[in-house]
Amino acid sequence: MYRLPYYHQLSQRIGATTVREKYDLDRHDERLRSLRLLTLLLAIFYFSYTLVDIYLLPDVTVRSLLLRGVIMLPLTGLLFAYYKRPVSIRHKELAGVTVVSLSAVVWCAILLGSEDERVLSYFYAGLVFLMVLTIVLTPPFEHSLYSSLFVFTCLYTTIWFLHGATSIYVINHLTLGVPVLVLTLIANYRFSAESLRLYLENVSVEQLRVELAARNAELEKISHIDPLTGLTNRRGLTRFADDLQQLSGAQCCIAVIIIDVDHFKAFNDFYGHAEGDNCLRAVANAIRAACNQEDVVCRFGGEEFLILRSDHSAQAFNALTLAEKIRMEVVGLGIPHQPTQEGRVTISVGVFTGPINPDAELNTFIKEADAALYEAKREGRNRVRFNTHYTGYASHLSMLCASNSDKAL
Ligand code: GH3
Ligand code: MG
Ligand code: MG
Repeated sequence: MYRLPYYHQLSQRIGATTVREKYDLDRHDERLRSLRLLTLLLAIFYFSYTLVDIYLLPDVTVRSLLLRGVIMLPLTGLLFAYYKRPVSIRHKELAGVTVVSLSAVVWCAILLGSEDERVLSYFYAGLVFLMVLTIVLTPPFEHSLYSSLFVFTCLYTTIWFLHGATSIYVINHLTLGVPVLVLTLIANYRFSAESLRLYLENVSVEQLRVELAARNAELEKISHIDPLTGLTNRRGLTRFADDLQQLSGAQCCIAVIIIDVDHFKAFNDFYGHAEGDNCLRAVANAIRAACNQEDVVCRFGGEEFLILRSDHSAQAFNALTLAEKIRMEVVGLGIPHQPTQEGRVTISVGVFTGPINPDAELNTFIKEADAALYEAKREGRNRVRFNTHYTGYASHLSMLCASNSDKAL
């Protein structure tokens, strides 16, 4: 597979930022940690080489102590201070390679002051600077390229002025210097490109993961919604069934209201399935509008709806009032239903109320509400009937239901 070259990849965009900016930002801490450690290591090397200067080239002792001590020591301190600043890691890496390049210049200046013949063999150590700028510090390729070309030029300018240098010596030096420059630059390029590739792969895997999580959340939501009415479906109800146990500790009450459209098969047969759907939507909207925000309103089956209400407002009286309100609202919709005696769409409602015990099960409550619905159907439809586990309420509630069904239409 063809891959974009390193430079092109860096300038591509990820959202509002470029790959380069995101790469630098995301990898800042990791890159800074290794930059700090390597700088410390290199500084120890560099300053301990003062001893090598003194041992190999005693005539540059003062020069070496002065230049390393007066220029490089404060510069190194400044570099560590700069690492602490809130700037891009790319700038910090650039500062690092700049100080290393300057240390190479200072080293050349030290060696230029020597008249010792050993200076020529010692000068081979200058190639270490090239290695540091490419494969040791492994800065971004562009920093590596410019700084190592600079140091290479500096080394091979200085070399002509060294005590005893000849063209043969320079050529000998170059036979090592050129391959070191080229090969370490290649290694740096490969390393930079490979790190970027791995990083981009991680970014795209992360993007896919986030996308997948969002899609899953969306699917999960959709799977709990009835497409015809937009209400929670039966599957969505199980979520609330699981929550029921947790409510039991707070001495909560529950109300289950089951609503069934009367003679709906006849409605479908007479007006057609599409009109039947419209009717179900209208009834669903009326139910939703009559309920609280906290009520769970669910399309329980074909033309059956279920309301779940828990807390103090689920008390029997309250739930019955709601059921009656919904019954009246549906009648008030005035949806024609010619095949029936009433001539318009009506509903029958079964209500159950009771306290939530630790061993409470939603299915038991639903069965109780269903039994009440059956009563409503048996007694002639278009009415509300109830079942309750609250003692003392029953006669009062019966009266309420009876009086309501009297004024059914
Ligand atoms: P009852 O008063 O006893 O409830 O009688 P019913 O005719 O309403 O009850 P039944 O259970 O015999 O019929 C329910 C009908 O609801 C049958 C089915 O075709 C219809 N139905 C179920 N789901 C849908 C739906 O999504 N759209 C439409 N248009 N009709 C549906
Ligand atoms: Mg039914
Ligand atoms: Mg029905």
